[in-house]
Order: sequence, then structure tokens, then C-alpha cells
Amino acid sequence: MNLTFASTTLLNNKVEMPRLGLGVFRVEDYDELVNAVKTAIAEGYRSIDTASIYGNEEAVGEGIRQGLAVTGLKREDLFITSKIWTADMGYDKVELAYQTSLTKMGLDYLDLYLIHWPVADKFISTWKKMEELYSAGKIRSIGVSNFQIHHLEELFAATEIKPVINQVEYHPKLNQKALQTFLNQHDIQMEAWSPLMNGEILTNPMILELAEKYAKSAAQIVLRWDLQNNVVTIPKSTNAERLAQNKDVFDFELTEADMLAIEALNEDRRIGPDPDNFDF
Ligand code: NDP
Repeated sequence: MNLTFASTTLLNNKVEMPRLGLGVFRVEDYDELVNAVKTAIAEGYRSIDTASIYGNEEAVGEGIRQGLAVTGLKREDLFITSKIWTADMGYDKVELAYQTSLTKMGLDYLDLYLIHWPVADKFISTWKKMEELYSAGKIRSIGVSNFQIHHLEELFAATEIKPVINQVEYHPKLNQKALQTFLNQHDIQMEAWSPLMNGEILTNPMILELAEKYAKSAAQIVLRWDLQNNVVTIPKSTNAERLAQNKDVFDFELTEADMLAIEALNEDRRIGPDPDNFDF
């Protein structure tokens, strides 16, 4: 598999999305995040994933401006994602929520706007408004997050445009095989959230063994596994050394046997909420 840091995946609407990006959940300190986003862009990251509920869209926007200033890149060189929160869902609320995210970030469009969680009685009407904004050229791509197969089937039956992506919890303890097969059949890209299991997977003995074998870190083994499985991945770090480490996964390749050994770690174990049983 011939992948580089600049590798993209072609989404089903023909938009290219970087395969490796930066996640920014749980970063509340403004300066820390501005600096991380700026550093990431200077280091070659082109994709940033935030959400309105993270409460940090202003800092992401400032980091983007500083990153563009130091690199000489243009806005269109980047791929910026945000997500609509559950409280803002519903046909009549979507446009204001989208506009509010844009205003906070100081941007005039997003590359990807996601339904953050599949609130049962709201995701269809929310999607219908997102389809309108997409068709009007206000959003480059629209997608979903935390959707199970049955949510997607319900969405397909009631709406026109297929999501480009489903961003879900994904790591060696939760590899979502059946969901990925379904997404592949429907040309929907899978994207991993908490790819490092928020750090927990990095002490797994088998991952550490592979790290030693390939002379890489545990995080690098797991991120490479994502990429070789055709999963877009967005590890979070605000640490310059780890930002550099997490993008340094293109000079080695896991063997088929090692890919399968990591796959065998699956326990269908979530660290985050269950999309079929959440109360927010
Ligand atoms: P990750 O699995 O990315 O793990 C992040 C943790 O691992 C941080 O504590 C980070 O610390 C540490 N870390 C990062 N790189 C390394 C490394 N090379 N070596 C050791 N430790 C490392 O967790 P997240 O939950 O943040 O998930 C990633 C992104 O996914 C989020 O930031 C967010 O954008 C998205 N997400 C989406 C959700 C959804 O519902 N759609 C839900 C949850 C997350 P440090 O910063 O100190 O390096």
C-alpha cells in the first residue's frame, strides 16, 4: 500500500479528504490549542476535526489563521470538519448551528459537516437541511458520526444524498467489522475517532511487541493499522513531539499477519457512549 502523509481518500462526492488528520476533543486551553493547530499545519497536517460541543472552534480558527500565515498555504489547502450537536438538531435549527460554527472559526465554509450523534427523532430532518446547504454550495461535504447500520438504512430510505463519511469509535478493541463492510458496500468512508483508545491501547502487550519489531511507537503501529485498513484517522495531540510522531507512519508497512494479529484483539469494547443507548 503506497501511502504518504499527503495521501487522500476520494469521498463519494469526489472531494478529496486527507487520510490522517488532527483531532482536538478535550482541549480547553485556548493558547494550547491555537499553538497545536498552528504547529500541526506547519508540520504538514491538512485536516482538523472539531465539533461545536468541544467549545473550542474559536481556538481552531485562530490556529488555522496562524498556520496559514506561517506556511503561506491557502484556506482551500486545508480540510476542516465540525459537527452539529444534538441540542441544535432539527430542520429549523441546522442553518444557525452551521453559521455559528463558521463564525466562531472565522471561516466561510466547512469541508465536512457531520451529524454528531443519531438522535432518533431528529436525524432525518437535520439531514434534509444539511442536504439543502450542501446543494446550495455552502458545505463541501456532509456526513454522519456514530451511526449504526440501521440508522444509515433509515437515512437512505428517507433522504436523497448519501453521507460521504461515518466517523465512529474505532481502535483494535472495537474494529467494527460489520459496519465497515456495510460502509464499503455503500461507498461511505469510515473514519476512526479515539483511534488510540484515548491512550489505553498504547500499553497493550501485543501492540508493544509490534512496536519493538518495527522500531516504531505503539501509537504509530495503531495509526498505521488504521491506514492500511482504509480508515481515515484523526489522533488527538497537542504535544509537538507526538504530533510529529503521529504523522511519521509512512516509512513502514505492517505485514498481513500482523494486521490480522491486531484485528484479533477486538473485543467489541467501547470507551465512549453506545450509539443505540445514549441520553444526550
Ligand atoms: P485519541 O485516541 O486520539 O487519543 C488521544 C490521547 O492520546 C491524548 O491523551 C494524547 O495526549 C495521547 N496521544 C496522542 N498521540 C500519542 C502518542 N504518539 N503517544 C502517546 N500518547 C499519545 O483520543 P480522542 O478521544 O481525542 O480521539 C481523537 C479525535 O476523535 C478527537 O480529538 C475528536 O476530534 C474525535 N472524536 C470524535 C467523537 C465523535 O463522537 N464523533 C468522539 C471522540 C473523539 P497528548 O495530547 O498529550 O499527546
